[in-house]
Amino acid sequence: MKIGKHEFRWSIVVALAILMVYPLSGQKSDLINKNSPGIAKSIPYQWNLGHVYASEGAWRKDFEKLKNCQGKMSSFKNDLVSSPKHLLEGLQYRDQVNLLAQRLQAWAEKRVQKNVNDTTRQYLVNQVSQLIGTLDAEQSFIEPALLVADSQMIQDFIASEPGLVAYKPYLDDLLRFRSHHLSSDAASLIAQEANLLNFSQSMFEAIKKDLEFSPVNDGTGNLVPIAGNYINLLESGDPLVRKDAYISRMNGYFAHKNALGVALASEVNRDLFLARAKGFSSCLDWSLFDEAVPTQVFRNFLGAVNDHVDVLQKWLNIRKSLLGVDSLTLADLYVPLPLPGSKEDIYTYDESLNLANKVLAPLGESYLKIFQNAQSEAWIDVFPSPEKDPWPGSATMIYGVHPYILLNWDSTLFALKTVFHEMGHAVSLKYISEDEPFLYQRWWYCTSEVPSTCNEILLKEYMLANSQDKFRKLVLLQDEIDRAAHLLFNLGLVSEFELAVHTQAEQGEILSLNWCLTTYHQLASKYYGSAISLSPLDDIQGLLDLLDNPWGTCYVRYVYSLGYSASQNFAKRLIANEPEIQKTYRRFIGRGRAHYPIESLKEAGIDFATSAPFEETFKDFGSKVEQFERLLREIQ
Ligand SMILES: [Zn+2]
Repeated sequence: MKIGKHEFRWSIVVALAILMVYPLSGQKSDLINKNSPGIAKSIPYQWNLGHVYASEGAWRKDFEKLKNCQGKMSSFKNDLVSSPKHLLEGLQYRDQVNLLAQRLQAWAEKRVQKNVNDTTRQYLVNQVSQLIGTLDAEQSFIEPALLVADSQMIQDFIASEPGLVAYKPYLDDLLRFRSHHLSSDAASLIAQEANLLNFSQSMFEAIKKDLEFSPVNDGTGNLVPIAGNYINLLESGDPLVRKDAYISRMNGYFAHKNALGVALASEVNRDLFLARAKGFSSCLDWSLFDEAVPTQVFRNFLGAVNDHVDVLQKWLNIRKSLLGVDSLTLADLYVPLPLPGSKEDIYTYDESLNLANKVLAPLGESYLKIFQNAQSEAWIDVFPSPEKDPWPGSATMIYGVHPYILLNWDSTLFALKTVFHEMGHAVSLKYISEDEPFLYQRWWYCTSEVPSTCNEILLKEYMLANSQDKFRKLVLLQDEIDRAAHLLFNLGLVSEFELAVHTQAEQGEILSLNWCLTTYHQLASKYYGSAISLSPLDDIQGLLDLLDNPWGTCYVRYVYSLGYSASQNFAKRLIANEPEIQKTYRRFIGRGRAHYPIESLKEAGIDFATSAPFEETFKDFGSKVEQFERLLREIQ
């Protein structure tokens, strides 16, 4: 059921996995006016779910209402497209049901997040989820019925029934899939073979259960297990500790290399089977068709990243010289660079709100007003507690009410960035709910991280421009460069490997383990050049990256690179106060599913049909590396 619910956990999982978050070493920031009065003395610090339902009793009343919707959708089943009026009634009824379902589910889930140990709260979530499953099944006839209807007739319906005009983007998007629509027999056969089609992921999970890692010395003479300590070990200042931890992990996987090879080949063949069954000539066409992204966008990204691997190598060489290692390995990419003069900044939550007034000023008054309302009107749950969901941050829109933002404020730079990130999502969700009907409330993956990342970039740029402390600037630059290195180059490498293995299968060639390892090795050598000494163990990384696939489909990783590039473009233009940019940006982040993402970006002045946006982003990466080098020379 498309209930328009936004949970961004999956993207945060990815962000946490791919970003390097470095601890800073303790003084208060010189960026915050310590005498500033605070946004409001009466900030609630806890969200108020009473804006949705005043009590569990009120929730139950609506739950009964939703229960009574069961069976009613079937009255449209045999004659949904019998007339424009009947089609409109059917679609409107479905949307009303889904809107109520979204509200019930979101309220129940938010309550669980406040107390994850209270099983009675979880019980409500289970109850409503089960009911939604039933209603979802009852609605499942709608889209197939529309896909087999005469498309000219549907267009005539829209022309003759004014109420259907709001449904035009939805219907047009659906009809776009017509030539790729499976017959009901084929669809049911594929549904029956779900276990077979998910074999690669089941196998990867089974391999992970069998992994054995040798314990390693943590640098103090203690042997510790890899599980639960891996990130800490990789952040050790002792290169030997990092190396041992890395080798122990990779050896664990390498012992299963043949099984991993079979799992990857199976995953790629699954993609190819589904793409061909739906009439696509390649897996890339199939995957990008979903969000109407031209495949040229993906190719432009790979072209641009290939043209700029030298700047990545330059950054890696700086890393190598600061770490003082003879040769840099993949084990050395997570350790914070030793910048002995740097101090750890600590922030208070109220200070972060005052900072937001300055950082987000380029976005204009109306944006800031929403940010302030979020504080004063109890949209945000700020502080951790023993029973609260410990997730660092998420934003959820409850249509017709307002967004709710979960935080677990801990006074670090990461917490500060999280406030800006999640508020970016929240304001965008608020705008989408103002600009588009409930039906279009879901984001496109492709651009979902733009409003959040743009806020983070505005924060970093403000801090860089307003800090006099060169060490702090170095820490901020390193944080941003490493983040960009992952979003642009690491994801570029994985995406290029993804293209290579899918193309190999599409050409009818066998995906042998040896071919996969050799191909990844060649690609990694091209990206890292002589800056990193690759070992044969590293070659398994490509398989692990592709098998770690929470999306269940191919060619998704590049969207993070695209989102970063677009965010940076917007942030620069906002800071430069380009004419009309506030309006342009406001319109863009208010776009939901009624507009395709690449078209909306083009309308906002960012044309991914050309390489220009990516070129600009790589140029910026290069200038950040140069800035880092310059500052380093000044303090040495
Ligand atoms: Zn996000």
